[in-house]
Amino acid sequence: MDYYGSQITKLIEQLASLPGIGGKSAQRLAFHIVNMPQEKVEQLAGAMVDAKKHICYCKECCTLTDQEICPICSNPVRDKKTIMVVESSRDLAAYEKTGKYDGVYHVLHGAISPLLGIGPGDIRLKELMQRLQGDVNEVIIATNSSLEGETTAMYISKLIKPTGIKVSRIASGVPVGGDLEYIDEVTLLRALEGRVEL
Ligand code: ZN
Repeated sequence: MDYYGSQITKLIEQLASLPGIGGKSAQRLAFHIVNMPQEKVEQLAGAMVDAKKHICYCKECCTLTDQEICPICSNPVRDKKTIMVVESSRDLAAYEKTGKYDGVYHVLHGAISPLLGIGPGDIRLKELMQRLQGDVNEVIIATNSSLEGETTAMYISKLIKPTGIKVSRIASGVPVGGDLEYIDEVTLLRALEGRVEL
């Protein structure tokens, strides 16, 4: 039964479709939004539309950014010869928060999952291999320690091995099935420092 009228119900449904927002949170947010001043609601909606409109992939590392080359890749202080491979821009953000990594990244936007029909061609692997034709010393594979993350790590290491570039995998301080973005900075750092060569 529709207690609220179709406009509010529509808003609740839209909010509930977002990750991590359950039915109750969606209701709470919807009522908060309809009680906000018109101007604030327009700012909120505008920020969403603007972000979506201006977002693109960094030409070097494929992370989401609003510039052709993201701030990390365009920072002259970063060590371009060390590339950390992560599954998502959120994982990149998690490592950036530690403030201790001075290399650059490569964002795959996913992981290989035969179960879900996601193959090597569906993630940004081709772009990674192209980057490796440049001057690269080490590739650190920091995909999640889920089945998909491990499968992807193995696939990438096999791909890179013949090039002679050093390939390493972050240590198992990261719990199995753990999403990198939820792991605290100390654990992330330990995983990076304890990485093992593949
Ligand atoms: Zn970049």
